[in-house]
Amino acid sequence: SLKEKIKTAGSVTWTSEYRYLCADGRVLHIADRGIVLVNELGQKRMVGAMQDITEKKSLENLLQKASSLATIGSWELDMANEKVYWSDTIKDILEVEKDFKPLYHSAFAFSRNEMDGELFKQNMRNAIIHGKSLDIEVNINTAQENTKWIRVIGEAEHFNGRCIRVYGSCQDINQRKISELAVINAFNEKNIILESIGDAFFAVDHDWVVTYWNSQAESILCTPKNQIIGKNLWQVFKEGIDSKSYVKYHEAMANQEVILFEDHYPALNKWYEISAYPSDNGLSIYFKDITDRKMTDEAVRASEEVRMLIMESAMDAIICINADGNITVWNPQAERIFGWREGEILGRPLSETIIPPRFRERHHKGMSKYQQTGHGPMLRKPFEIEAVNSAGQEFQIELSIVPIKQNNTEFFCAFIRDISSRKRSEERMSELHENLLEQSKKLMISNEELEKYAYVTSHDLQEPLRMVTSFLQLLQKKYESQLDDTAIKYINFAVDGADRMKTLILDLLEFSRISSVKGEHETLSLDSIVSKTLISLKPAIDESQAIVLISSFPDISGNEFQLLQLFQNLLSNAIKYKGEESPVIEIGYEETELNWQFYIKDNGIGIDPRFADKIFIIFQRLHNKKNYKGTGIGLAICKKIVELHNGRIWVEANAKGSTFYFTLAK
Ligand code: ADP
Repeated sequence: SLKEKIKTAGSVTWTSEYRYLCADGRVLHIADRGIVLVNELGQKRMVGAMQDITEKKSLENLLQKASSLATIGSWELDMANEKVYWSDTIKDILEVEKDFKPLYHSAFAFSRNEMDGELFKQNMRNAIIHGKSLDIEVNINTAQENTKWIRVIGEAEHFNGRCIRVYGSCQDINQRKISELAVINAFNEKNIILESIGDAFFAVDHDWVVTYWNSQAESILCTPKNQIIGKNLWQVFKEGIDSKSYVKYHEAMANQEVILFEDHYPALNKWYEISAYPSDNGLSIYFKDITDRKMTDEAVRASEEVRMLIMESAMDAIICINADGNITVWNPQAERIFGWREGEILGRPLSETIIPPRFRERHHKGMSKYQQTGHGPMLRKPFEIEAVNSAGQEFQIELSIVPIKQNNTEFFCAFIRDISSRKRSEERMSELHENLLEQSKKLMISNEELEKYAYVTSHDLQEPLRMVTSFLQLLQKKYESQLDDTAIKYINFAVDGADRMKTLILDLLEFSRISSVKGEHETLSLDSIVSKTLISLKPAIDESQAIVLISSFPDISGNEFQLLQLFQNLLSNAIKYKGEESPVIEIGYEETELNWQFYIKDNGIGIDPRFADKIFIIFQRLHNKKNYKGTGIGLAICKKIVELHNGRIWVEANAKGSTFYFTLAK
């Protein structure tokens, strides 16, 4: 063939490919390009170049083989002659008519977007200028405006440093590319999901080398991705060896089963639910933050504990029944009161246990009435009833029942107190009360009798006393001349004694009259009572040069005679028990919600506080009759009058004076 070429020479350029057998036995494909030069003498000379194209040839072979399997077309850009060649398959791929003639300059302007177009041009340039192989996947728009992915492979051929030809193949890879992109998308999506799940995730291979580590794993396990990917998990987490996680992950890997466990990470004070999933590639580990759930669980547990403590320490028996009337709650106090243990009574009907048979019918009616109408007259208020214990004994309880609704389920809670001992003491109390009433009635009768007796006695005593006095006086008058001084002195003593006895009897009469004669109450002007008192005591006030300070007083309800006596007694005492200075006496009052509270304040000799109560007892005096005249009945009368007006009387005193207080009920 070479000889043929030489014969027909005449500045002919040719290109051929041959197979050569090398000395070492290899077969090389050689591209041979030659030119035959003829000089003026007609002598021929041949100049040529050889290029080892074995590799390219094998690629072409491969392409040829592939094209029989896939849709592969071939193309050629003849740069020497500025021609383009497209095979029919290429035309099919690019969806042009079979007779379509591609133009040399725009033959490859089919890419779909600029970037792909630019990339293609760049590759083409690299092939043309630098002889680099071309292998590129581009997304194109076909002549029919369909988009598809194609793979373009090409090789440039150079001669004398000039590219004379670029040729190659073009394959429709749309299906493969779409599935490949789908896989990439799915992978990216998985990646996005794993990064954005908010929970930590990592994966290790069978040798515990970390192959995946998401950003949450970075923060939970405090290790950045780039410091762990590709490294052995247990070399990075040496301190984790033999930890709970270590044991569990190994268990999952060894048994090829999913392991779920909970663990606490003190550094973050968080709880995680960790799942280890074995796979063909190793182990995937997923951390779910369950801190909130743990906290809630803990709160629920704590509140349950509080509930239990309350139930256990409650003084009352607490029993709950469901809508069917069966017991659901039975606290320790219920055990003590009724004798049944929780275990043996839960689930049993209340009506067959603690309710005495005669009330059971009523209980059922009450329950069904409440369920129908929502009304229960026995609910939400305590009442007393009989109950029965495990030994069949009846006893008194105080019971209150509260209906409770929880998640649309209604139940009833009963608070029960054993009141049998309280009942017994109540009975005892009422017996005592009866006795007391009886006693006080008797006392009242005897008191009344006594007062009557004192009244009658003091009344009746006056007559004989008057006789004694007048006969003594007669004796003195008639026999005065015959009697010696001693006899006269004795008669004077006897008259004196009779006088004093008379005063005493009169005072006693006064005292007993106060309580035995019922004084009617009417509305009174206290102003007028105080003025009348001042008028009746005018001689004593004048004599002692007393100053009496008064305010204006309210109208009150009371007995005029008694109140006059009250003010008179207190004011006359204030004058009588004066000190060295002339008396200054103040009469005033304060109003409280229920009472009028009066006071009479003096600047007299005062009272030893030890005797503050004693002075209100009849005949009790703190002074002898020589210094201060009196019988010791005045304050006893005052006390009686104040009590008849539902008030009380007391004194506050010191060496500078005394203040007598008394109240009168409004
Ligand atoms: P009497 O004045 O007749 O002794 P009272 O019952 O009025 O009897 O008083 C009892 C005692 O209370 C008096 O003896 C006196 O010691 C004391 N007393 C009463 N009022 C005053 C007062 N204003 N200042 C000091 N002592 C008083």
